[in-house]
Amino acid sequence: MSIRTRFAPSPTGFLHVGGLRTALYNYLFAKKHNGQFILRIEDTDQTRIVPGAIENLIETLHWAGIEFDEGPNKGGPYGPYIQSQRLELYRKHAQELIEKGYAYYCFCSPERLEKMREEQIKLKQQPRYDGTCRRLSQEEVKKKLDEGIPKTIRMKIPEWGELTFHDLIRGDVTINFKTLDDQIILKSDGFPTYHLAVVVDDHYMKISHVIRGEEWLPSTPKHILLYEYLNWKKPQFAHLPLLLNPDRTKLSKRQGDVAVEDYRAKGYLPEAIVNFIALLGWNPGDEREFFKLDELINEFSLERVNKAGAIFDIKKLNWMNSHYIKNSDLDRITQLAIPFLKEKGYDVSNFQKVKIIVEAVRTHLEYLAQIVDYVDIFFTEIVEIENGEAREILKLDTSKTVLEKFIQKLQNLDGEIDREKFKQLMKEIQNETSIKGKNLFMPIRIALTGKTHGPELPLLVEYFGKEKIKQRLEKFISL
Ligand code: GLU
Repeated sequence: MSIRTRFAPSPTGFLHVGGLRTALYNYLFAKKHNGQFILRIEDTDQTRIVPGAIENLIETLHWAGIEFDEGPNKGGPYGPYIQSQRLELYRKHAQELIEKGYAYYCFCSPERLEKMREEQIKLKQQPRYDGTCRRLSQEEVKKKLDEGIPKTIRMKIPEWGELTFHDLIRGDVTINFKTLDDQIILKSDGFPTYHLAVVVDDHYMKISHVIRGEEWLPSTPKHILLYEYLNWKKPQFAHLPLLLNPDRTKLSKRQGDVAVEDYRAKGYLPEAIVNFIALLGWNPGDEREFFKLDELINEFSLERVNKAGAIFDIKKLNWMNSHYIKNSDLDRITQLAIPFLKEKGYDVSNFQKVKIIVEAVRTHLEYLAQIVDYVDIFFTEIVEIENGEAREILKLDTSKTVLEKFIQKLQNLDGEIDREKFKQLMKEIQNETSIKGKNLFMPIRIALTGKTHGPELPLLVEYFGKEKIKQRLEKFISL
């Protein structure tokens, strides 16, 4: 059997981190089995559509490295891949269900349905369609159709009994028909509801595995009934555990960002997000934590997806992101950091210089937007001595000696100073003066930055260059 999975978001705005996980698991499962991963846009609820959302979804998936084989803008043998362009197909099968006796027209007005609902709630009953139109005679139906009364189509749920299906993550799941409503499958505007469209599309797009969030588990029996009514082969189902806040409530915006775009905008790296998200509900079975996308493809299996909800721990994401910031190609991290510096008004015209800054501070960053908190010493023209301790150190005789020697050596140096030459000069000063350790390095650090702590000194020196260093150091020799 060829493996085909799909990610089927509604274009209602941003891509939720839970959506990204669903997309990722579908992608990993398909790729692991040399199958296809399909993107399908579920836009049958026209009231919830947000302009630009489809482009945004595609762009965010691309950013994360999750490429689909078939989908909008890309095409494929079973398109179109946007539900609003497939309406005829849904209508045809809604009609077929009516003809076979598995569905019926419902002429109840929204007002009547609302009133019924309110009464049921008042009586502490589960709100449910009362079956009025299910009981209409053929003549009554024909009469109402002829009168042109607005109508929906509802699927019939068996009146008694239960249905058991196998979920690849949750095992056998049994649902009593009593808990299900005669679901509307075609609305009065001629659009299908999700339940009909999802079954029709998964069938025509030859989806072998439906991997989606747990919130769709209660809908699955309706889908299975539709497969049976239409005499179609069912796909396999796998429902992924919920994502939770650290307090185990359902992941919500109130407790932090939930849009992938928000993380992207703060300077989280795609490989960190993907790595982190992959571990929300899946584990490799051992202690390993770092995985690149191709490694995830190799390792992934639905058997290792948990049933229990997965906690979205931002601290872990930050830790993981900082690992990738530290270990990724410096040119790339510099490119990604530049917009944040630019936005703050820093001069980023000299790439080589900015690269030194990024190298010097990247070990402190959990995400790239934080870079602006660490770089003022590189851009400020005025060095202010931070505290008494720094001032005292500068006043030491050894400090004066070090500063004088260093300036002298700088003057004699051919060409610009870099980190290696700096280390060499400091070794010479140590040999000539026997001053070492803190007493040797601290005066230079304080004279350059005013502070006793900060980025690695050799990088600072390389960044400032001969002229600026001389200017800054000379001020302190006379103290
Ligand atoms: N359109 C549904 C959603 O927005 C897809 C559910 C499914 O995968 O069946 O999540």
